[in-house]
Amino acid sequence: MKNPFETEERRAFQETVERFIQNEVVPHANEWDEAGTFPWSLHEKAGALGFFGFGIDEKYGGLGFDDAFMRASLGVEMGRSGIGGAMASIGSRNIMTGPIQMLASDDIKMKVLPDVVSGRMGGALGITEPSGGSDVANIKTTARKDGNHYVLNGEKTFITGGLNASHFVIGARTGGDGIAGISLFYVPADTPGFTRQSVGGKMGWWCSDTASLFFDDVRVPAENMLGEENRGFISIMNNFNYERLGMTAQCVGMSRLCMDESIKWAQERKTFGKPMIAHQVIRHKIADMSSKIDALQALVHQICWNIEDGNMPVAEISKAKFFGSKVLEFCASEAMQILGGAGYLRGSPVERTYREVKVMAIGGGSEEIMRDLAVKQMGL
Ligand SMILES: Cc1cc2nc3c(=O)[nH]c(=O)nc-3n(C[C@H](O)[C@H](O)[C@H](O)COP(=O)(O)OP(=O)(O)OC[C@H]3O[C@@H](n4cnc5c(N)ncnc54)[C@H](O)[C@@H]3O)c2cc1C
Repeated sequence: MKNPFETEERRAFQETVERFIQNEVVPHANEWDEAGTFPWSLHEKAGALGFFGFGIDEKYGGLGFDDAFMRASLGVEMGRSGIGGAMASIGSRNIMTGPIQMLASDDIKMKVLPDVVSGRMGGALGITEPSGGSDVANIKTTARKDGNHYVLNGEKTFITGGLNASHFVIGARTGGDGIAGISLFYVPADTPGFTRQSVGGKMGWWCSDTASLFFDDVRVPAENMLGEENRGFISIMNNFNYERLGMTAQCVGMSRLCMDESIKWAQERKTFGKPMIAHQVIRHKIADMSSKIDALQALVHQICWNIEDGNMPVAEISKAKFFGSKVLEFCASEAMQILGGAGYLRGSPVERTYREVKVMAIGGGSEEIMRDLAVKQMGL
């Protein structure tokens, strides 16, 4: 079906991303996943193609423009790679560059953005804490004003890219309880008192580095505060929009991968004297997958159109985020069923994707929190 929002530039970008992922990532997906890591050069190659430049000024190495459709097609193609961990690690910088571009001083932008946007260095966003990630208003890490500095104390966890990142955006409490007491800070990784360690084994995203971050009297200059004091909660919420759109688009790609692998297998495999694709039950599974993927993709397109039209449709993004992870859950499960034992073996793209369903339902705002937010946005 033709995409009514396609332009020459968007198609060219999508084809560039697709070529890059299919040629440079897919052939290594299993090897990198099993190794739990991948070469840093992938960050730089992705940077050179402009993957991290949306919404970033050209003087800081960005593209100098934004386009929600291109962001979404990047997410879809990343999802189709079948190696969510690598994609999460390289993509995590996109959730920290937004607050830097929008809220940091020119000096900090110049120090951080060229290196992060080019892929030479890593960047990460630290919001979640051991006491919980859903209730952002309850952040416990503190930032105490001391002369011309703030002093950070506390702990973050589940931070994607956190082990290797050189630059961090960190949420910390500068005021009283609740949403009105939170601020955002730029924290370089080499600041004394800052340490980190791996969170250890994960169900999926094996080759993504996920860290706990520790702040022990970490002293940063007052100008490292991003935006106004105690106004960080709003910035965090705004920043979630593109992260959630990106994750939803990845769900489109991951679901497509599951469907494509199912079709390929069902055409090759024979049961009861005929190819599986000839069995009506299998055909219906594929029809169900396809219809859900079409609906999700259409919703993503509509959200992108609204963003390009100047509106950030927060309710629809929240609905799309949990709808997306539900579509993915369905497609991964049906694909696994169609592949049977072959799908259950380590190394198949379907097996890898199946392991990554849950992080898409939890990370970036869980299904429950997305439902809450959607209903709240409906005025209820
Ligand atoms: C692999 C991975 C990578 C991540 N990367 C990052 C990152 O880069 N930066 C970052 O800041 N965070 C990151 N996160 C954290 C992620 O955003 C949180 O895991 C998520 O917000 C949920 O927080 P939690 O895990 O602490 O669960 P909790 O907040 O403790 O919630 C546990 C469960 O209870 C449910 N729940 C909570 N409150 C309610 C309620 N009121 N009603 C109904 N159900 C409720 C939740 O939906 C969830 O299912 C990552 C997480 C993972 C797993």
